[in-house]
Amino acid sequence: METDTVHCDLRDNLARVRTTIGTASHQSGRDPQTVTLVAASKTVEPDRLQSTIDLGHRVFGENRVQEAKNKWPPLLEGNRGLELHLLGPLQSNKARDAVALFDVIQSIDRPSIATAIARESDKQGRRPQVYIQVNTAREPQKSGVLPEEASEFIRACRETLDLDLAGLMCIPPAGEDPSGDFALLRKISEDEGLRVLSMGMSGDYAQAIGQGATHVRVGSAIFGARPPVRS
Ligand SMILES: *Cc1c(COP(=O)(O)O)cnc(C)c1O
Repeated sequence: METDTVHCDLRDNLARVRTTIGTASHQSGRDPQTVTLVAASKTVEPDRLQSTIDLGHRVFGENRVQEAKNKWPPLLEGNRGLELHLLGPLQSNKARDAVALFDVIQSIDRPSIATAIARESDKQGRRPQVYIQVNTAREPQKSGVLPEEASEFIRACRETLDLDLAGLMCIPPAGEDPSGDFALLRKISEDEGLRVLSMGMSGDYAQAIGQGATHVRVGSAIFGARPPVRS
């Protein structure tokens, strides 16, 4: 009974999010197929992940390498076509595990990490796609390159490090109107000829789609409220 309820919630939530993506896409004259829903699954237990996969979802995002390493290998073994994204900040000593596990690393935020990922990609013969995280609101405590540093960093990632750079990601300040952040990220991506724009979370993904998001990272609207963060 308990499991059925959980499964039901998941199904309803996922359907609701998909509908919202469809509506937001149509309203801005876009094909919903151009928007990828990344289910942000930090703290979500493996059995609920399997239920989500059973509902047909395939693209997931995790925040911590260690948590992902504990949860995902059996799921990747047992299910076809999964795509795993790293959304959280990365330490150089986790670069090896990150390259081995993730298909996309969205949180490239400084030269030392870009270099570590490039070195591991060479070593492992496995080249995850990467996005650069931009600190659009210039928050001192937040990861990401500053907007005015983006261009030079992008060039280094492409030319010097030969990373498979596909796009940009941002996490606007909580509780504020994110439209300026979304517009800035889009402007940088257009100037630099980058295709992917990862922006929008549970509270603002419809708005992000209106402003050009190709990837939305949605957690609580799918999985429900998370337990409070431990740090
Ligand atoms: C947790 C998280 C999300 C999803 O947040 P929700 O508000 O639960 O949708 C998206 N992106 C990043 C980087 C996150 O850490």
